Amino acid sequence: MGNQPLIVLSDDSQRTSGKDAQSMNIQAGKAVAESVRTTLGPKGMDKMLVDSTGNVIVTNDGVTLLSEMDIDHPAADMIVEVAETQEDEVGDGTTSAVVISGELLSQAEELLEQDIHATTLAQGYRQAAEEATEALEEIAIDVDEDDDEILHQIAATAMTGKGAENARDLLSDLVVQSVQTVADDDGIDTDNIKVEKVVGGSIENSELVEGVIVDKERVSENMPYFAEDANVAVVDGALEIQETEIDAEVNVTDPDQLEQFLEQEEAQLKEMAEQVADAGADVLFVSSGIDDMAQHYLAQEGILAVRRVKSSDVTQLARATGATPVTSVDDLSEENLGFAGSVAQKEIAGDQRIFVEDVEDAQAVTMILRGGTEHVIDEVDRAIEDSLGVVRTTLEDGKVLAGGGAPEVELSLALRDYADSVGGREQLAVEAFADALEVIPRTLAENAGLDPIDSLVELRADHDGGNEAAGLDAFTGDTIDMSEEGVYEPLRVKTQAIESATEAAVMLLRIDDVIAAGDLAVQDNDDEDEMPPGGGGMGGMGGMGGGMGGMM
Ligand code: ADP
Ligand code: MG
Repeated sequence: MGNQPLIVLSDDSQRTSGKDAQSMNIQAGKAVAESVRTTLGPKGMDKMLVDSTGNVIVTNDGVTLLSEMDIDHPAADMIVEVAETQEDEVGDGTTSAVVISGELLSQAEELLEQDIHATTLAQGYRQAAEEATEALEEIAIDVDEDDDEILHQIAATAMTGKGAENARDLLSDLVVQSVQTVADDDGIDTDNIKVEKVVGGSIENSELVEGVIVDKERVSENMPYFAEDANVAVVDGALEIQETEIDAEVNVTDPDQLEQFLEQEEAQLKEMAEQVADAGADVLFVSSGIDDMAQHYLAQEGILAVRRVKSSDVTQLARATGATPVTSVDDLSEENLGFAGSVAQKEIAGDQRIFVEDVEDAQAVTMILRGGTEHVIDEVDRAIEDSLGVVRTTLEDGKVLAGGGAPEVELSLALRDYADSVGGREQLAVEAFADALEVIPRTLAENAGLDPIDSLVELRADHDGGNEAAGLDAFTGDTIDMSEEGVYEPLRVKTQAIESATEAAVMLLRIDDVIAAGDLAVQDNDDEDEMPPGGGGMGGMGGMGGGMGGMM
């Protein structure tokens, strides 16, 4: 065996190993966290993102920012996944989860420098996360499903600091009402809450329609505009003459024959309209087309008909009115009709739509969000999504926590106590974890223009004195009892954030070798100058390949 190095990687691939790999991953993770940090909390700022085609998004929402940012680094992507998991699981707390993850990495960096092994760190972090989850469960407050006051406060907390803020009371009303309406024995499916965004008017004019809004007009001018106490038929098919499968050629030899042929078609279409009327329907929704002639006869019968209804609307209509969709009018009968107190064509923001309201059991609702401009409504919509998520989670779990940094400070104290019982070097990792959690109150203070050290000292003292719910009032700078202030978040927002943040951090820390087929670079580089000099930083990462790429 010679001393010749064995080359197993292609020339284009890059390899980063050992401490360099660790450091590269830590820097990338920290950079992601840093990029969303300033948006955290009631006084967090927004960011404006412009994509390559010039589309603009103004947002404060962690997961939206990260998914729009075009991040291109494997380690950074793992942190983005933390936000995505958080979004899927609870719908809120995405920024917090990412910020905690970044801080766990940052704390780990210091311990790695002191020659604490990554595996020890990982072990300590896992233990700490488990202990933290248990501690959170202990301080969680039980919420009854009909405790409207606390549900409102939860809905409102999720909207704080977002574009929706000035209409918080109204919007949290709409959110709580929507979630309660769609809740049934099978649980809560927020897909049954449709959000219609309307440009024009102000946010305060937003409203809830308990029922369905179909984005279509009635099919003919000769049909009525509205129907009261209406029997509703839903046809998942067409009111048209079926084209024959084979190319049939009709040879018309004399004009009478043609007339006969047309008359026959007309009779068929008339028959269809009559079938609808005979079933007793006042309103007809059809997922496919309605022939002109059929339209004419339907209008004669005084039926309000709508065609080309989206399949999602068909489902919603069936759910809301209790109608059973049939594939052909032949199957239509009284039993498969639904009912709505009012079906009417109305105008919103210059568009004609069909409102199906006063339904017996509104299991589907539509929220009409209004706002001055498209960007405003989009951001309100994102705030509403978060808010729907937290109300749903609260109803599902029945447990909440006071917010404003209170749980993190409480946990931090609890974990420092717990650390004493942990032997070996893991103890240091548990302590680092405790420190890392304080990034939330610290950032809330920083973003509110307060002194983070002063705020933390005060918060710790309050919690030491037994006030579990002491948090930071971002508006006055005082530490106050967050439960009195009505700042609540579901327990799961916190437990999920801690779990995914820990998993991602641990995963990154355990990596000591990065082998890439191409170039490694983080494209987002708005925080470049905050990166430590040398190995880190995004510019640094992009350039890393030169020194380390190649072979093994
Ligand atoms: P995330 O994406 O993590 O939800 P947010 O920007 O929504 O980020 O900020 C959430 C943080 O703001 C939580 O720690 C929450 O407790 C805190 N918070 C929300 N409302 C208030 C308030 N009125 N006063 C103090 N803190 C608040
Ligand atoms: Mg939030």
